[in-house]
Amino acid sequence: MPIRPKLALVGTGGTIAATTQSNTGLTDYDITQGVHTLLQAVPGINELADLECHQVFNVDSRAMGSLMLLELSHKLNELLARPDINGAVVTHGTDTLEESAFFLHLTLKTDKPVVMVAAMRPASALSADGPLNLYQAVQVACSSLAQDQGVLVLLNDQIHSARFLSKQHTTLTSAFGSPDAGPLGLVAGGQPRFMMRSLLPHTHSSLFDVRSCTACLKFRSFTITPIRWRNCIATQHKAVCKALWWRQPATAA
Ligand code: ASP
Repeated sequence: MPIRPKLALVGTGGTIAATTQSNTGLTDYDITQGVHTLLQAVPGINELADLECHQVFNVDSRAMGSLMLLELSHKLNELLARPDINGAVVTHGTDTLEESAFFLHLTLKTDKPVVMVAAMRPASALSADGPLNLYQAVQVACSSLAQDQGVLVLLNDQIHSARFLSKQHTTLTSAFGSPDAGPLGLVAGGQPRFMMRSLLPHTHSSLFDVRSCTACLKFRSFTITPIRWRNCIATQHKAVCKALWWRQPATAA
């Protein structure tokens, strides 16, 4: 990893990109900020990495349809295949973060660091958590220890594997956990520190390859037609992803 790596910063929306009328209002927000704007609230972030911004969507993550997930996977596969890109950071809403993260964990064909990041408080809030989360996500993506770990998720100083991530609270900045495993690490003393690695297959060692998929995903005997795919509402994503996982032998996903 170069001293100042080049990372793709991919924006999809979420509370991290949202603003409210007052800085004590935490819920009635609109998604107004692109990734370029988010960077302005994070002093020193451009010293960590050369960040190439890509705004793929700017939506509440409840609107993340399955075709959008596929598009996000395509975009990241394309960016991560570039020799000049050392890793990626993806901003996302928290409501379907675990589903999108798990989908990308199984479908990105890379061993480069990929870190998803979100916030529980809007960008306009007093003590917004987004700027520090974004700074730490970039720090993690710059770490050689994040190499070949699949998709990682950074919130509240903790580094989670997408495989185990779960949103467990509606409002707390500590809303996310990894109930079956615990976080893989944390950012402490200004540095990412890993305590564990996930040994289960992911990214380049996952059997799932959606790079040539357009509207229809077919994994062995399990086919999702475009209509069913489109009709999947956000809360069903996890079930779909888990179904895809469980349809495979234990070593396959
Ligand atoms: N509704 C928001 C979203 O998922 C919640 C958040 O980002 O915290 O986009």
